[in-house]
Amino acid sequence: MTDMIPFIDLKAQYARLHDDINARITGVLDGGQYILGPAVKEFEAELAEYTGCKHAITVSSGTDALFMPLLAMDLDATSAVFVPSFTYTSTAEAILLAKATPVFVDVDEDTFLIDMDDLNKKIDAAKKSGLTPKVIMPVDLFGQPADYPALNAVAAAHGMTVISDAAQSFGGKSGNQMVGAMTDITATSFYPSKPLGCYGDGGAIFLDDDNMADVLRSVRAHGKGNHKYDVVRVGVNGRLDSMQAAILSSKLSIFEDELVERERVAKIYDANLKDAIVPVRVPNSRCAWAQYTVKVTDRDALQAAAKEAGVPTMVFYPRPMHLQPAYRAYGGGEGSLPVSERISDQVLSLPMNPYLSDDQVMRVCDALNAHSK
Ligand SMILES: *Cc1c(COP(=O)(O)O)cnc(C)c1O
Repeated sequence: MTDMIPFIDLKAQYARLHDDINARITGVLDGGQYILGPAVKEFEAELAEYTGCKHAITVSSGTDALFMPLLAMDLDATSAVFVPSFTYTSTAEAILLAKATPVFVDVDEDTFLIDMDDLNKKIDAAKKSGLTPKVIMPVDLFGQPADYPALNAVAAAHGMTVISDAAQSFGGKSGNQMVGAMTDITATSFYPSKPLGCYGDGGAIFLDDDNMADVLRSVRAHGKGNHKYDVVRVGVNGRLDSMQAAILSSKLSIFEDELVERERVAKIYDANLKDAIVPVRVPNSRCAWAQYTVKVTDRDALQAAAKEAGVPTMVFYPRPMHLQPAYRAYGGGEGSLPVSERISDQVLSLPMNPYLSDDQVMRVCDALNAHSK
């Protein structure tokens, strides 16, 4: 059997940045400020500049980046938070940890992004059932930014806040606007396999609002007030450590180049996959390609045949949130969100990283095409 093609390739990236990353880590070790040291401040300034937002607040994970703004909003069970059902667990989890009520919304069959018609229906239904619509939590699934102008308009019409789950779309763009600068609050993750990843857990929150930024910095440090031992609200231990910040600064220096390479890989897939339904791009936007996800029939057999040919594939995600045992009570059960349920059986994510050669990408295409007929 031939070598397995790397699904993601952190080794190739480390080989490229080896000297720089090692020097930065040594700098943190020598400096002795391991929590919220200068490396964190520098990285936060770089993030704000890169995204074009006023405040970039680094945190301990993408999940905390979603949870902390919800916690800061003081929600309760009468507060409805609208979230696509076809997403990663964290999005729903953060809502329940914040003691709010998740309202699951279906997604668009072509883009995998929140379905605006269903969102409007769910907002009306939530109001009728006595809930107060508070937050829309769209998810930029697989790296493609959601339709923020439309989402911002719906949020404004109902007095809601948008807190976007951009764990997979950091680096994405709509027109000239970067993910992070397109809505009220944006949360991202620096988990190792994300487009920009560290060597542990990490995340960031992006926003322009000065007051909310102060509250989030307090939430990040156990709800502290002006003095460290002055506790003014319930918070969390939600900091990013200096070592991860130093690693992320190094990786950010080559990130734009990596996004170009991801687009190269995506274009080869677009042009050469024969029977799989390739992802539909939103016009005038840049996808960060956290995943390249196709829709297929006979997924199990195709996955096995691809593996045999040295091509690893993954299923993100096999079950929508409204059918998960932990969240079922908040959804409408089987058949209630037909698109999310259907695509959960069809999606297949292919190797995607900036270090794949054209030949390797063609090998993936050949393996999939060979099985399809
Ligand atoms: C990875 C991911 C998260 C969670 O990020 P962590 O850093 O692992 O906590 C949340 N939402 C989506 C869509 C993700 O892909």
